[in-house]
Amino acid sequence: MAQIRGHVDVLVVGAGPSGLTLGIDLARRGVDALVVERAAGLFPGSRGKGIQPRTMEVFDDLGVIDAILAAGGSYPLGAIWQDGRKVAEHAMFEPADADETSPYTEPWMVPQWRTQQILHARLEELGGTVAFGHEVTGLTQDADGVTVDLAGGRQIRAGYVVAADGGRSAVRRALGIGMTGETVDPQPMLVADVRVAGLDRDNWHIFPGGDGTGFMVICPLAGVADFQLVAQFPEGHPVDLTLDGIRKLVAARSHLAADDVTEVRWASDFRPRAALADRFRDGRVFLAGDAAHVHSPAGGQGLNTSVQDTYNLGWKLGAVLAGRAPAALLDSYEEERRAVAADMLGLSTGIHRGEATRGAATRQLGLGYRTSSLSAETRPAPGPLRAGDRAPDAAVAGVRLLDAYRGPHWTLLTTGPDAPPEYGTGVFLVRPDGYVGWAGDTEEGLAGYAARVGAGSAHRVP
Ligand SMILES: Cc1cc2nc3c(=O)[nH]c(=O)nc-3n(C[C@H](O)[C@H](O)[C@H](O)COP(=O)(O)OP(=O)(O)OC[C@H]3O[C@@H](n4cnc5c(N)ncnc54)[C@H](O)[C@@H]3O)c2cc1C
Repeated sequence: MAQIRGHVDVLVVGAGPSGLTLGIDLARRGVDALVVERAAGLFPGSRGKGIQPRTMEVFDDLGVIDAILAAGGSYPLGAIWQDGRKVAEHAMFEPADADETSPYTEPWMVPQWRTQQILHARLEELGGTVAFGHEVTGLTQDADGVTVDLAGGRQIRAGYVVAADGGRSAVRRALGIGMTGETVDPQPMLVADVRVAGLDRDNWHIFPGGDGTGFMVICPLAGVADFQLVAQFPEGHPVDLTLDGIRKLVAARSHLAADDVTEVRWASDFRPRAALADRFRDGRVFLAGDAAHVHSPAGGQGLNTSVQDTYNLGWKLGAVLAGRAPAALLDSYEEERRAVAADMLGLSTGIHRGEATRGAATRQLGLGYRTSSLSAETRPAPGPLRAGDRAPDAAVAGVRLLDAYRGPHWTLLTTGPDAPPEYGTGVFLVRPDGYVGWAGDTEEGLAGYAARVGAGSAHRVP
């Protein structure tokens, strides 16, 4: 068990995708941070298995993309089964054309437990730590910091706390922050990682159900021998998570025999909900990931939105703690991320109800912060790329921009008459999280902005 010190600058509660991402970002900035996790180890299930292109860019920046690419694979085409035969094919995602603006165009499948292992290994490589087996039970804050209570009576004092402790967040409850939302679907769902004989790994197998029986889908998970099984049950129906129960389910809803299910490696049940925390911040405590918003899994957005929350917060905490930016910079976290989360909730619920498709919006490359108080567009006639937009990939003076942006720094990019079409001409100050913070025709006015956001010495391109 990791040694718990009495004081840290940032205490991250929860070692899910949000907390691990923040741990990595803070570690590479040299911030004194600790991740505490209630469980004895990392979460074991495959649940959030779809990594969207924008998150792939984030993982590229954080130094885990090679491991993520090696661990995963593309989504297979859906095959619809009826009476023991494949009767139709179904593409789960709208196809995306490859383009110059991102190396990543399609969702990439990696079981969530594997993504978390990769993030955890990177955190340790950077000298960060997860203290497993430590549950946060409460906290109190004053002007200088937060006193956090751990189960067993121990306390830690932290400058800031980030609650990345999931949908039932103990920290959110301790702060009395409400969560407003709805049950997207009253019908309970089962999700399980299983080993199944008699199904190929070339398709996502869809058993549509009907006549009072819910659907069942069995998806071959990339990089491992498991399948992820998801099944829907009528309202009020108990969900049996045992091997025997899952065998009966598979035999009842498919052409497979009960003992074709050879192993259940993990199983859970849930009711799809969509809810948004009323605030993402209380003084020195921030909510991130599922602690701040819960989605229907149908849209494949939960893990992705969670990772991007803490990716938004990491550089801001780093700049304030290093004394490079005023504490007011931290106000922009809720301003920027709560609006994104609200949009994502609408999208996930729409997809769950069949009212929206898994199209371009789900890839999250178009998300941005144009209306944020941190976005300064100073040009009277802006070009295609404006302050607040995601800084896309392109080649400038022989440099691939995503290569230039990789790392914890800001980047100052100046484009001229041969500017890539997605940028147009201008001077662009690109934030550490890959969005244009400031845009101008010249560098006039840039210094004042840089001081406000702690931009320090930006890398120049070209
Ligand atoms: C069936 C299913 C399919 C899904 N599919 C997708 C998908 O395709 N794409 C996608 O983007 N998302 C998907 N999701 C959602 C995704 O799994 C979540 O959004 C994601 O796990 C949220 O990450 P997080 O780090 O915020 O929280 P969590 O992963 O919930 O992690 C929170 C951590 O905090 C710990 N913790 C809790 N309380 C305490 C405490 N008091 N003290 C210390 N530690 C604590 C927990 O043990 C846990 O490890 C799916 C979810 C489900 C259920």
